[in-house]
Amino acid sequence: MCAYIPLSIPNFEGNEKKYVDEAVDQGWVSTGGAFITRLEKDLATFLHTENVAACQSGTSALHLSLVEAKVVPGDIVLVPPLTFIAAVNPVKYQFATPVFIDCDDSFCLDPVKLSEFCENECEFADGHLTYQGKIVRALVVVHVFGNMADMEAIMEIAEKYNIRVIEDSTEALGTHYTEGKFKGKYAGTIGDFGAYSFNGNKIITTGGGGAVTANKPEVVDHMRFLSTQAKTDPHYYIHDEVGYNYRMTNLQAALGVAQVEELPEFIVRKQQNYEMYRELFEGFDLCELMPFREGTESNKWFYSLKIDRTRITASMRDIILALDKKGIQTRAIWGLINEQKPYENEITYKLEKAPYYAERILNIPCSTSITEDEIRYVAEEIKSLFKELANG
Ligand SMILES: *Cc1c(COP(=O)(O)O)cnc(C)c1O
Repeated sequence: MCAYIPLSIPNFEGNEKKYVDEAVDQGWVSTGGAFITRLEKDLATFLHTENVAACQSGTSALHLSLVEAKVVPGDIVLVPPLTFIAAVNPVKYQFATPVFIDCDDSFCLDPVKLSEFCENECEFADGHLTYQGKIVRALVVVHVFGNMADMEAIMEIAEKYNIRVIEDSTEALGTHYTEGKFKGKYAGTIGDFGAYSFNGNKIITTGGGGAVTANKPEVVDHMRFLSTQAKTDPHYYIHDEVGYNYRMTNLQAALGVAQVEELPEFIVRKQQNYEMYRELFEGFDLCELMPFREGTESNKWFYSLKIDRTRITASMRDIILALDKKGIQTRAIWGLINEQKPYENEITYKLEKAPYYAERILNIPCSTSITEDEIRYVAEEIKSLFKELANG
């Protein structure tokens, strides 16, 4: 038996300590300092985009995007039901109304249902789409687990109906198209806005942190301005807008610069480990390792097993606890956001796949530091547990 195998832990094999020491030695630990601008440049280079603003979290990056998209109280924002709740909470910060649209088999927004909703449930007049008299201002599309949403179809619909597209790329840093209309384009750089997260379990981490980009460089400048309390005049403390304390600190950025150096290697390992799991689960009929979208190269951040519910009826909790006893940390995909207390009265549109996958998807260990022996052990233990549950 291996030592306890965690789901997803940070990896500090590079220059993390060196850079953090430098930041401390120089005394630049807060929201000013060279590592912040360096991280922004490195991220922009990596993403092949012009301008990136570093901020406190993925959530703040999403909130700044909604502010910049001019989402105001009473507006509608189309959101996903099956993802981390932080993708949707900023809609409430703006006192806007979320409407939940179903996902497809990639776990990401289903463009077919999106199109049906716009066409059949809304009205389009004077350049605005309205639903029950309210303007549908934006949509939040999450690239779930590093899988690219169907951006070709989604962008076409958004352009047709004048809806701002906010890409929640918090799980998809590095995922990009290798074919088609958006060949070479990275998740987060296709829509109007892209948000990234560097929380502890993401593919790179700054402890807590995030970044935001937009299709217009001057918009990113304005988000950076808002993230530092919207200081119009640095000497007289003049503020013409309401700002936020959303700027990343230099300490976080020091960690981030080291992590971006390792990011290409992390992605390679995520991909290799996924391939190994794929071979190990090949032909096993009680669960299926879910694929990533064709025509893209995914960062393969999280791996998803779809459990055959016709033969395994045990609850997710029982499965997770049984594997935990074997020293393997797993987790269920999220509970549906529209079933959480703050959202239980909101409108949903044709949710079918989201509830289907909510009770079938188990995420398995995927740290960049996981060893081949550990992967073999995880696959063996899961298979033997599932066989036991199917026969029991
Ligand atoms: C992690 C995550 C966020 C939030 O990022 P934080 O940095 O934790 O604020 C938002 N959306 C999704 C889908 C996430 O996975």
